Amino acid sequence: MPVAPSSPEVIARAADLLRAGKLVAFPTETVYGLGGDATNDLAVAAIYAAKGRPQINPLIAHVAEVAALDPHIEWNDTARLLATQFWPGPLTLVLSRKKNCPVSLLASAGMETLAVRIPSHPVAQALLKAVGRPIAAPSANLSGKISPTTALHVAESLSDKVELIIAGGKSTVGLESTVLDLVSPRICILRPGGITREQLEKVIGPVETATHNAHEAPLAPGMLPSHYAPELPVRLNANSAADNEALLCFGPAAFIKGGATRLNLSGRGDLEEAAAHLFAMLRQLDDKRYRAIAVMPIPETGLGAAINDRLRRASLR
Ligand code: AMP
Ligand code: MG
Repeated sequence: MPVAPSSPEVIARAADLLRAGKLVAFPTETVYGLGGDATNDLAVAAIYAAKGRPQINPLIAHVAEVAALDPHIEWNDTARLLATQFWPGPLTLVLSRKKNCPVSLLASAGMETLAVRIPSHPVAQALLKAVGRPIAAPSANLSGKISPTTALHVAESLSDKVELIIAGGKSTVGLESTVLDLVSPRICILRPGGITREQLEKVIGPVETATHNAHEAPLAPGMLPSHYAPELPVRLNANSAADNEALLCFGPAAFIKGGATRLNLSGRGDLEEAAAHLFAMLRQLDDKRYRAIAVMPIPETGLGAAINDRLRRASLR
């Protein structure tokens, strides 16, 4: 198995592999990423192939620091402000590609825009600094399946498709980045994620959220309706569970009836804790012994918006 705990030597080897066009999975604070050199068409194509990801679904380019984006995107004032406030961290900005931007057009799915992010995870930071090139890194899972928050999750589905998986503990945020479109006339959240709407609006005022239809429009093909899906059916807003269902709880759940087994996203009803547990607990409950995964209601505020977005998509077939 190509899993290696992070160390300076492992980071140096990973950087060499990436520069040679190979794929390396690495931890970020959101979820584990499947990295490839974003400026290398073949490496980007290999990412799509490894994940079975439709090539209409563009990738995020990751760098270690703000200045590293200058050759790639057209800055504007809003982007500068957001970068100062939220980077490094779980926010992705969609901006116009600079003329002669060296990032593969395949990473942009042929569009004139590029999604960019600066992750805060120390291993991601060290790796990106060592490579010195933008790294395209979608979640390190097969397309449409549950995202990985540990190196073991990555190994379960991709060990024969990557050269190396760097282990760096559990992803602390546990949800993908918020994807914010700064190119369209109105600023719009294309994907809710680790930075909440409320946090963004404090800094830049009102932002829109893409409607369900907009999610399926070409600008955000990543918002394919069914995604993050376990093998079992997912039943939302459960106020009780059948005896052959696995129950995913939120908050004090003593009053809930039934369930062959249960896990609690956060017994004290904390949305940050729930986000960090979401994908790992869905994996744990995704067991053929049960008929379905029933999920208790989760408030739509703060990180709840992103948690519910993932759960709704997990529930679609
Ligand atoms: P993932 O890499 O799995 O975290 O997904 C990346 C997300 O960013 C998907 O929802 C993509 O559709 C979205 N994305 C990436 N690049 C762009 C872009 N240029 N324009 C709009 N959305 C993008
Ligand atoms: Mg993904």
